[in-house]
Amino acid sequence: MAKVDLGEQILGSNQRIAEKNRELFDSQGLVTINLMSGPGAGKTSLLERTVSLLRDEMKIGIIEGDLQTTQDADRVRAAGARAVQIETEGACHLDARMIARELEQFPLDEIDLLVIENVGNLVCPAAFELGEHARVMMLSVTEGDDKPSKYPTMFHKANVVLVNKTDLLPYVDYSLERVEKDVHRLKPDATVLAISCKTDEGMDRWLDWIKEQVRKNG
Ligand code: MG
Ligand code: ZN
Repeated sequence: MAKVDLGEQILGSNQRIAEKNRELFDSQGLVTINLMSGPGAGKTSLLERTVSLLRDEMKIGIIEGDLQTTQDADRVRAAGARAVQIETEGACHLDARMIARELEQFPLDEIDLLVIENVGNLVCPAAFELGEHARVMMLSVTEGDDKPSKYPTMFHKANVVLVNKTDLLPYVDYSLERVEKDVHRLKPDATVLAISCKTDEGMDRWLDWIKEQVRKNG
């Protein structure tokens, strides 16, 4: 009898729930983004800035994932988002079942865009589809420019790669060219955008990308 790998079973059942999640998003005409990065790259700062800059144009819902605390949901809610927090209590990534549970009560009919901020981790979130339409990977210049080459699986399905904290480029050795080259080796059609949530550099291109997704799928 063929031995079925437990890891494959888990991923298979995750995949089925992710597909259900996506059907629900599609039935609501809702675009969903899975936002991933290592800890401290600036995911929550990006969402705070994005929500306040798009406030008059669209309603954004956010599901926050962290091991503990509701700090991030509080921050994006203060910026104007509908937000809930998942506390994974030790789990280092979100899975489709955790999202499905939140969707039972999330007011999907009141939003145009749903962003899921994954647990800060550059390894396993890549393996767990949540039902998203697009994956956004975030890096920051303080982490070093070797991350795409060292953590390739995170970039294989990335639609957009944001390189944050460009305001700090004068103080660090970081090659945007290297990152762009490494990302495109892993995912040739990924859009790479250099941004700063502090100075708003590059934010217009990020906002344009979001608006295009909402227009396309809405
Ligand atoms: Mg965060
Ligand atoms: Zn994990």
